[in-house]
Amino acid sequence: MKRIYTEAEWKSLRFGLFQENKSLGFVPTMGALHQGHLDLVAESLSQTDYTLVSIFVNPTQFNSHEDFQNYPNTLEADLALLDSKGVDAVFLPSTDTLYPKPPQLSIDFGHLSRVLEGKFRPGHFNGVGLVVAKLFHIIQPTVAFFGQKDLQQVAVIRRLVFDFSFDLDLVVVPTRREIDGLAMSSRNLRLDPQERTIAPLLYSGMQEVKQHLLSGMSWKEVKANFLKQLAAQKQLSIEYLELVHPETFEIYETFSPLGPCSICLAAYVGKIRLIDNLPIIE
Ligand code: AMP
Repeated sequence: MKRIYTEAEWKSLRFGLFQENKSLGFVPTMGALHQGHLDLVAESLSQTDYTLVSIFVNPTQFNSHEDFQNYPNTLEADLALLDSKGVDAVFLPSTDTLYPKPPQLSIDFGHLSRVLEGKFRPGHFNGVGLVVAKLFHIIQPTVAFFGQKDLQQVAVIRRLVFDFSFDLDLVVVPTRREIDGLAMSSRNLRLDPQERTIAPLLYSGMQEVKQHLLSGMSWKEVKANFLKQLAAQKQLSIEYLELVHPETFEIYETFSPLGPCSICLAAYVGKIRLIDNLPIIE
């Protein structure tokens, strides 16, 4: 597995792939890899000729310096994992490589930047949009792989690809969960044992919400029940729980089975902020 640190190193490799007419799969990550990331990698390995994974903890998408500082770093284990899966190359840019000067550009995704994650993490998607645009320009993938776990991020990237006319396909990979339903996340490493036992309630609660909506209960009632149920857990506090269109993130006040919709939530379990989502109608 090749380790690539600079744009110049990658450019010459990329040129070779173009010449050989090989498709390039790209999996952007922030490291601390788990099986969810490896599902994206497996998709890329099966769908494309050459797979590049990037590991870069992007400072511009963190709205809390503490969160950025505390982001887990398991680089050597990550590299061993990727190597064992047969990944062709990893891109490991330094912050100076990607941002030789502090960026001036900020990409505003309109409504998408202002609701749910956009509302509670101001500036987050501006940072995500900027780094992913830079990576797409540098890497020039044929196909890029993203996780459904970050549904709003997928919607943002879809707009980025469309509005900037990036010549690539997006593949969205289903959320990988622990056996008890908790969505895998690098942040789960920071839950203490007690918090770890409570965290799966988020997923089981969403499944209940889905059943109730499909059986005809109103969203208002279902949401109130869910919030009441979780309020009983001291270490758990819900930041938002919304029913949305999975691409536009229009927020629905009522449930209709006639069009696509998903529930999305963010919650603190202790000090750890977790997000999850579940499609109700696909
Ligand atoms: P991150 O390293 O958290 O930036 O995630 C890198 C990619 O992995 C993103 O496209 C995420 O949506 C995806 N991802 C993270 N967790 C999961 C999961 N549990 N299942 C599927 N994909 C995931």
